[in-house]
Amino acid sequence: MIYSEVRNFYLQYRGKKCVIGYSFLGREIYAFHTGSPFGRQFIAVYAVHGREWICARLALEHIRRGTTVGGFVIPLVNPDGATISETRDAMWKANARGVDLNCNFPADWGQGRLNTRVRGAENCIGDYPLSECESAALARFTLRVKPYTTLAFHTKGGEIYWEYGGRGDKKGAEIIAQSCGYTPKRIAGSSGGYKDWCISALGIPAYTVECGDDKLAHPITSLGDIAECRDILKYFTDNYGRKEIHEKRA
Ligand SMILES: [Zn+2]
Repeated sequence: MIYSEVRNFYLQYRGKKCVIGYSFLGREIYAFHTGSPFGRQFIAVYAVHGREWICARLALEHIRRGTTVGGFVIPLVNPDGATISETRDAMWKANARGVDLNCNFPADWGQGRLNTRVRGAENCIGDYPLSECESAALARFTLRVKPYTTLAFHTKGGEIYWEYGGRGDKKGAEIIAQSCGYTPKRIAGSSGGYKDWCISALGIPAYTVECGDDKLAHPITSLGDIAECRDILKYFTDNYGRKEIHEKRA
């Protein structure tokens, strides 16, 4: 099971690490620090959607490869949803309460085209923004770290989303594209996502990477199927934002 895989990795990880919160069913949500403890820090999140749990394995690979710039990798934001997908409902995206965590952030909450208040496998917005312990833990941790950028890894489609409400920085998406070959894209009609919240409320550039060719079926179970994503984190953090940061300080 992916949760025990991440948990075992956490137990033997020698770097800085912490538990940022707990899922509804009491599973731990782990964060791993990589790279420099000084200067700007990034946050990268994975497996916000249950059936996209292969992204947690990608996160462990990103941690193994390491980064120079410092930041936090959160491999499994939705451990309950991943377990549901692995055991009884392969297509499940939501958390254990039937709320889609990526519709639960305070960014035009409830305004998405597919949003619903009906609990189930996907698209349910929850009772109010950050009503879920997993999304609340991630928001709280993000506000504490104050990252200069965030990345969210999902499956699938081979696309990179970088814009929300007319804001965002396409340059970062182009750097990600250099690493994996995916296409930077705008999406319309979606709201309440982690990236949406980072861009609109925190005012930082934020990205969603949809890993894996669209022809693949959910859930993707082999890291080999998204092998092109293995270097994204290192490549992106090595190449994004240096100049802009200097300009800001000058
Ligand atoms: Zn997703």
